Amino acid sequence: MRKLAIVLLLWLAPAAAAQAAATAALAQQQSADDERSMGAQLFSELKSEGEIVASSPLYDKLQPLSTAITAAVQPRYAYPIHFYIVHEPQPNAFAAPGGNIYVTDAMFYFVKNTEELAGTICHETSHLLNHDSMNKMKEEQKIRDRAVGATILLGPSIGILLATAGIGELDSLHYSRDIEERADLMGADTCAHAGYNPWGLVWLFSDFENSPAKQPPEIISDHPDDQHRVQALERHFQENPALFGRFDSNPKSATPMRVAHSEPEVFLR
Ligand SMILES: [Zn+2]
Repeated sequence: MRKLAIVLLLWLAPAAAAQAAATAALAQQQSADDERSMGAQLFSELKSEGEIVASSPLYDKLQPLSTAITAAVQPRYAYPIHFYIVHEPQPNAFAAPGGNIYVTDAMFYFVKNTEELAGTICHETSHLLNHDSMNKMKEEQKIRDRAVGATILLGPSIGILLATAGIGELDSLHYSRDIEERADLMGADTCAHAGYNPWGLVWLFSDFENSPAKQPPEIISDHPDDQHRVQALERHFQENPALFGRFDSNPKSATPMRVAHSEPEVFLR
């Protein structure tokens, strides 16, 4: 009897381990599928609203940055990273689940130099690497489901929720200061590796501080805690002289960004 028990145990243990591994793999696959399909739904929603810019001279400004920054990040991210410009009156950028980074045309008009735009993009790529938008949406979905007493936690309802949201609503996805700070520091590393001065992030904070824009872009949505984030960045730069020592903290060293307002845009239909 005891022998049978041991034999059973020996037989069951690997089976249980295999079962657990299969369940974990399935969960991971499910999560990957969710992320991909949420990203695809958001894209088609923005496209159907006519917000996605298919061609514009703004892409010529974006392209060198997005190429260099993608090269620094893509090896650590499972989905292909793509950049799209969207037509919005507010300066903003948003990293969607599944690898799309949306930058509003207003963001190009807002930044004063290439380094500020690079900093914004680098910050957003950190949200991709950390799956922040996916985690945030799942979290909000759970709260919503709990509120209505629903029993289904995750499922197509997230997709429906997302599909009905435009970039405007995504602005309200406020991340915590910890998440934003992590995105700043990782983003600074990314910018440095891609060859863009990471002080651009710091300059962006101060430019926004002095701007009359009503709604802050995602990157500084936890305003008014910018000072704390600036300090964290400065500390990070000081602690890693090998990576950051070569970059000039003076905004006068920046590459000015000159973009004519109302560049012609052709929309993706
Ligand atoms: Zn952010």
